[in-house]
Amino acid sequence: MSTFDNGSSISERLKKGGVSRRDFMKFCTTMAATLALPSGFALKIAEALEKAKKPTLVWLEFQDCAGDTEALLRATKPTVADIVLDILSVDYHETIMAPSGKQAEKSLMDVVKNLKGKYIAVVEGSIPVKDGGVYCCVGGKSALDIAKEVCGNALVTINVGTCSSFGGIPAAKPNPTGAVSTKEAVPGITVVNLPGCPVNVENLTATVVHFLTFGSLPSMDKLGRPYFAYGKRIHDNCERRSHFDAGQYVKNWGDEGHRQGWCLYEMGCKGPESFHNCPSVKYNDGTSWPVQAGHGCFGCASPNFWDTMTPIYRRLPNVPGFGVETTADKIGAGLAVATAAGLALHGIAKAARSKGEKTEE
Ligand code: SF4
Repeated sequence: MSTFDNGSSISERLKKGGVSRRDFMKFCTTMAATLALPSGFALKIAEALEKAKKPTLVWLEFQDCAGDTEALLRATKPTVADIVLDILSVDYHETIMAPSGKQAEKSLMDVVKNLKGKYIAVVEGSIPVKDGGVYCCVGGKSALDIAKEVCGNALVTINVGTCSSFGGIPAAKPNPTGAVSTKEAVPGITVVNLPGCPVNVENLTATVVHFLTFGSLPSMDKLGRPYFAYGKRIHDNCERRSHFDAGQYVKNWGDEGHRQGWCLYEMGCKGPESFHNCPSVKYNDGTSWPVQAGHGCFGCASPNFWDTMTPIYRRLPNVPGFGVETTADKIGAGLAVATAAGLALHGIAKAARSKGEKTEE
């Protein structure tokens, strides 16, 4: 990939870092799976990465909680962490870089000046535009001015987390700082949105790997989210789905159903209304994800989730802007009727299911 040219190839760096061929191929297979490509593409990815130059990347933090930075640094297996950090060459990142103050700001401006149109800007956090952008300043400049300069000259801007993608929690009503997404703050730039609280670093890496392999960004939905990561409904891939279909719902935290891993729909899970690959990719090197850990999804990858998906622990029958799965509503309604009848739990499940099926018909 000629776009990036700042030294040795990724494969040379991996060799220097002591990463084995086996681990490298394992990583390429994982990336092919994350990108929803057939496993044969692992070889194509490996070939492309072996030739690719390390991309220059700058990471901006604005109105955020630093959760996405934590996600970047979270890799637990050293070999994978090495690979990830080797592919994402971070030339500027306030939180993790050694230089500070003027020296750090110079690093950022050097990239903007010397690599105009060739670097990747990653943005974490929303951008306040109210009152001239005074609510978030770094090095004497407003986040708005920094974003215009850095994102406006980047090859592509990748928004990590929901705040930079859609405004996130800072933009929740009444949005006192006038927080907006990067795309709203700097119209006309090319963006990839990777919302979620925090971003799943596998999706960030896969987006960059896609670019290095195919020379293009992954295909995206109308919200600017790559289909490979946001094309499927959480509910359809959830490991608790069989319990949903059987009408087996957790009624209280810690009850028997909760201990048995039943469906969290009645505890407020927004999985039927949310699109993300959490159930298949999971977090922390595939260790777990919220629903597996026993907590419902609260739709953090959706725009305005703090206003539209709350209260978190109450099931919302209608969420503006998002289609609620018909079956979910009908089975839920059936279960409520069965509960009122005072049936035994197993009986409730059966009754709810058959009632749901009848209503569908
Ligand atoms: Fe999983 Fe939530 Fe759907 Fe239940 S409602 S199956 S917990 S996504």
